[in-house]
Amino acid sequence: MSSSVALRLPSIDGLLRHPACAPLAERYGRDSLLTGLRQLLDELRPGVLSGQLAAVEIGAEVLAGRVGERLAQQQRSQVRRVFNLTGTVLHTNLGRALLPEEAIEAVQMAARYPLNLEFDLASGKRGDRDDLIEGLIRELTGAEAVTVVNNNAAAVLLTLNSLGARKEGIISRGELIEIGGAFRIPDIMARAGVRLHEVGTTNRTHARDYQAAISPRSGLIMRVHASNYSIEGFTARVPTAELAELAHAHGLPLLEDLGSGSLLDLTRWGLPAEPTVRQALLDGADIVTFSGDKLLGGPQAGLIVGRRELIAKIKKNPLKRALRVDKLTLAALEAVLGLYRDPDRLAERLPSLRLLTRPQAEIHAQALRLQPLLADVLGEVWQVSAVEALGMIGSGSQPVARLPSAALCCRPQVSKRWRGRYLLNLEAALRGLPIPVLGRIGDDALWLDLRQLDDEPAWLAQLAQLQVDR
Ligand SMILES: *Cc1c(COP(=O)(O)O)cnc(C)c1O
Repeated sequence: MSSSVALRLPSIDGLLRHPACAPLAERYGRDSLLTGLRQLLDELRPGVLSGQLAAVEIGAEVLAGRVGERLAQQQRSQVRRVFNLTGTVLHTNLGRALLPEEAIEAVQMAARYPLNLEFDLASGKRGDRDDLIEGLIRELTGAEAVTVVNNNAAAVLLTLNSLGARKEGIISRGELIEIGGAFRIPDIMARAGVRLHEVGTTNRTHARDYQAAISPRSGLIMRVHASNYSIEGFTARVPTAELAELAHAHGLPLLEDLGSGSLLDLTRWGLPAEPTVRQALLDGADIVTFSGDKLLGGPQAGLIVGRRELIAKIKKNPLKRALRVDKLTLAALEAVLGLYRDPDRLAERLPSLRLLTRPQAEIHAQALRLQPLLADVLGEVWQVSAVEALGMIGSGSQPVARLPSAALCCRPQVSKRWRGRYLLNLEAALRGLPIPVLGRIGDDALWLDLRQLDDEPAWLAQLAQLQVDR
């Protein structure tokens, strides 16, 4: 629209005094408001000069409204809660394990008050932060000693560097794996200063292969749980007990990177078997490393457990100081480990285990309950059905195992040519909700796996706001 009368932008001073702006100054501060107004006026000036803007578009109320939206957007936290309906329970990109209430309380306490992080209350002397969880870890795994670092990648790096620097690390070719996010065993070994000595083949490695590799240059034997892929068919792997015997006969330590490393036998809850830390130690592994936020269900951390003198050596490495955990992590970890003392109630109290063991019938009932509500919001173009689905544990645990679940499956009823666009639009609309909803697209449909839809009221409350572009 053009006008013969020259328009003028309101002045900054005038806007600041305007009643529509006063609440914004109160809420976001005068400086932020001033910056926001200046930016907006600068952007509008060319349109005003060329006569492309109408008077209503630069009225004080309209401008205040636009600045208000921007300031709200800027103030919104970048760390956002989401609904993980991807079907992958321990999703690395979505923060892995959810903490139990006990751990959340412990984190709050540790955040709010001073605490005995490195202070021995019994003797009044300086303490060691690892001592806070050593007793529990020993009880739960049978290990002699423990040290904790920032994550399992750090645990592997630190252990390799402490025990094998400038020597050879013997490892099977079938275990030279890559975990997501650029964690590759050969690279980590190199960075740890350990010379990689690979033995055997991808699918078969025998005791004689390890035996032939042992020399005065050897520093350690390493075993890595091939967590995120599976070797099937014509395969051979040396049992840990046999490998430990071989290593010890030559005075070498055996390290085992268990990845997820469960503290309890998960088959007790009908989940796929995962090697336990206790068993690896019983089998003779000298050091076992595992993550805190995978199957353990705790905070991000890397646990290093095993023989006392080796742990002592690891703790003396200056890298330990660089990789150490903070007080919030330790507080959460202690609380989570405490729950493992009562395995009978663990599936009720530990969110990750509760979600992993949620019965399919219950999830399916939930899908049936929500199906008409979502169908109603999406309208006729979408066929929404409550269907059975298969989820995953995630984080490299049991890559081939599937968790029988149920999902809302949304199919656009349009010609094949348009389906992709409709699906992407629905995906974007779900992502744009106040609490973004993340599903997955596959097989010409968008799937919302409901295994992890705990907070149904919050999900339902925002459903009416869903607006899908065509
Ligand atoms: C996940 C995993 C790691 C890395 O653990 P983070 O805690 O993610 O650092 C290392 N090794 C194996 C075998 C894993 O599965």
